[in-house]
Amino acid sequence: MSAPKKQLVVFDFDWSMADQDTDRWIFEVLAPDLRRKMKTLKDEVQWTDLVAQSLREAYARGITREQIIHTLEIMPYHPAMVRAVTNLKKRGETTFLCLSNANSVFISTILKSKGLEDLFDEIITNPAEWDPSGLLKLRRRVDPEGPQHSCKVGCSPNMCKGEELEAFLARKGVEYDHIAYVGDGSNDFCPILRLRAQDTNFCRTGRGLQKRIEKEGEKEGLKCKVDYWGGAWEIEEKFNKL
Ligand SMILES: [Mg+2]
Ligand SMILES: [Zn+2]
Repeated sequence: MSAPKKQLVVFDFDWSMADQDTDRWIFEVLAPDLRRKMKTLKDEVQWTDLVAQSLREAYARGITREQIIHTLEIMPYHPAMVRAVTNLKKRGETTFLCLSNANSVFISTILKSKGLEDLFDEIITNPAEWDPSGLLKLRRRVDPEGPQHSCKVGCSPNMCKGEELEAFLARKGVEYDHIAYVGDGSNDFCPILRLRAQDTNFCRTGRGLQKRIEKEGEKEGLKCKVDYWGGAWEIEEKFNKL
């Protein structure tokens, strides 16, 4: 009998594991004028810094920790995604990694509300913590004062998902038979360039990642298979066959 296959599933969070974008949702629900301000400033201010600044403004006007937690708990999240990852994890051959440009508090709050707090081996994202005053303090994963990453395909200064994926693989020291990467955004293009021919990118349709694959995939030497999906029920189907 051959040894069971070792598999790694990497998840982007916003619009991949969840059916919304945490950074934007919070403000759309609690302070739409701040959401508008973020849209206006997003080309001038680095995104993680802009979210941190908006959280400080929300705190200053009295938006509470409880309101933010509740808003995260009601964010659209497909029950089929919960089933998909729960059933795959139960089969016992798959390690799960979260690689996200959101932050540790948003992600852990939502996972806990779905009973998925033990799903991921590691959550690689921007660090956040609640100040005792109720302010959510957020920082870039790559400290702007320290050495910067050396990404060549356009990752934001806060984090290069490709470098983070390679560092995770080196840390684990496991030769995975198959890596699956579930993503939707333009910043998921860099990590999928690091995948091999036997690996799979489950790409959500109609968003930045699909556009980059079509425009730059061949030029940048994308090697993995690309398998498209629209709704989490399709991820459930695909995971049942992994
Ligand atoms: Mg995303
Ligand atoms: Zn990168």
